[in-house]
Amino acid sequence: MKLILLGAPGAGKGTVAKLLTKMDGSVQISTGDILRGAVAAGTELGKKAQAAMKAGDLVSDDLIMGIMEERLKEDDCKAGYLLDGFPRTIPQAEALKVLLEKMGEKLDFAVSIEVPTEVILDRLTTRRTCTGCGEIYNVKSNPPKVEGVCDKCGEPVVQREDETEEAINNRLSVYNEQTAPLIGFYENEGMLLKVDATSSDAVIDAIQAKLGK
Ligand code: ADP
Ligand code: ZN
Repeated sequence: MKLILLGAPGAGKGTVAKLLTKMDGSVQISTGDILRGAVAAGTELGKKAQAAMKAGDLVSDDLIMGIMEERLKEDDCKAGYLLDGFPRTIPQAEALKVLLEKMGEKLDFAVSIEVPTEVILDRLTTRRTCTGCGEIYNVKSNPPKVEGVCDKCGEPVVQREDETEEAINNRLSVYNEQTAPLIGFYENEGMLLKVDATSSDAVIDAIQAKLGK
């Protein structure tokens, strides 16, 4: 399957993407994970992205489109892909449309995962992320077996640098201003699936139902 996952930070895009990859071998492409990897590795890209990320601001559309143009050409994308955290602005969505046309690719649809703000805030402050493999934990509902250590890969599990209260508030307002308009964009394109759900399983069920049609 080839899907775009839309939703506020903390809506569960990453969790849903990971569940979907197990169904048909599609790959999860998270621009946030790619950028965090570049920051950790200290590459040129990482240096350009670091300050914006720490503040919870967006990285420039040009930088993101450069990353995605390369990423979508890789072999593993042939099995399908789940775009998690991209596109994030109207210019990115327009550029993606042009890029996919050029590549002769067609997306199935864009999923908007709608979760109440209180739930989002609670999740973001209790979320912890593995620095090795990106696995997501939650200190209340899904802690690692050993505190601070990833069950899957043994690397440290930490609170992200952009998960301070200030950065979280900024990420949410950036989402409302720049990313939420994509819901209307994909609705106009006739390719939107809206799901009101706080459980990832319910989101998966809605996606499967729509794919089955
Ligand atoms: P979130 O949990 O907020 O969805 P991500 O892991 O997707 O976070 O992204 C983390 C940060 O990486 C964002 O706050 C932003 O600085 C940067 N980023 C990720 N994807 C994009 C994108 N498509 N466009 C611009 N910036 C991005
Ligand atoms: Zn891990």
